[in-house]
Amino acid sequence: MATDWVREMWSDPPHSVVFVDVFNYRYTEDDAYNRRIADNIRRGIEYIAEESDFDVVPPEPEEGARVRARDLPTLWAIRGLTPNGVTRALSRRTWSFPTISFHTSPRSTTMPTWLMMLEGFLNGNERNIRAAILRVLEETEMRDWIGRLVAANPEFAGWPVDRATDAIIGTLNIQTMQLGNGNYVTNVFIRSPTRDVREWRRWTAELRTRRYRSFANGTGRVRYVAVCGGCRGVSHPMHLCPFPRVRGWNGPQQGQGVFGERARENSQYDPSVTDTRRAGRGTHPYRNPSAGRQSDHEHGRSTPRRDARPGRSSGSSSRGRDSQGSRSGGGPSRGSGRRHY
Ligand SMILES: [Zn+2]
Repeated sequence: MATDWVREMWSDPPHSVVFVDVFNYRYTEDDAYNRRIADNIRRGIEYIAEESDFDVVPPEPEEGARVRARDLPTLWAIRGLTPNGVTRALSRRTWSFPTISFHTSPRSTTMPTWLMMLEGFLNGNERNIRAAILRVLEETEMRDWIGRLVAANPEFAGWPVDRATDAIIGTLNIQTMQLGNGNYVTNVFIRSPTRDVREWRRWTAELRTRRYRSFANGTGRVRYVAVCGGCRGVSHPMHLCPFPRVRGWNGPQQGQGVFGERARENSQYDPSVTDTRRAGRGTHPYRNPSAGRQSDHEHGRSTPRRDARPGRSSGSSSRGRDSQGSRSGGGPSRGSGRRHY
């Protein structure tokens, strides 16, 4: 994301900006396509926020920078909302209209809770997987590191360092799902011990270099970070994106473009994947423009507030419903969508 774009959005008054992730959007300089998206976002936000005096701002890449296609920005912004409009737009995070579906997020500096995705465990025994992760977190050096971070964190002012360290480690939360080839992957979440993004990056970078030995069901290795091309979450490959399966989802399916226009080219599926656990949207590792690109935690999504009005998804993820989708090359396949459940 261009530094100027970020600076502009952060120069606006508080409670006047909302960020929008358009489902399936990929950066493009096709003006007609972007205009159509902007029009549909506008109609959606007008409906949600019950106001119309705002700007819909497309993403903007850094000038002159050569970036890979997958690193091009995708985040849209709504500027000039009233505080009430912001509240309404954030009253839930998933909005699905027949014409467009998107996620909203606040301009905030919430620290991420998603830490990493592990693969390599031979079964889904979460007690063993949890023990493997705790083994690393409880190492003396790692505890000392967490201790230094919490000691400098105002959220823990007045806490004994040991107790604050235990509190952080106590927030460890894992979610395991099984892929269709039988492999297990585990999302690992933990509260950040620091409010400093650079410190957080250093700490998570170290944890992401480690191996997580269970001595019971194998060793967890950190899986590369891949962003879902649909919802921009990192906790699941795109073909397992839970959102198109949410009741009330009005489309499109993942991989089929913002308006479903890519449906035909992606209509071949290999039903080889089974999702045995719910795959939440997880977090965006590069979401928050405040610090370059930082993420926020959006694990739980808000529930419907104004149910009387049509056209919105319930915002929760699928509940363990078996699903089948395609899988290519051992990783999320950006280009493939799915149709059959
Ligand atoms: Zn997704």
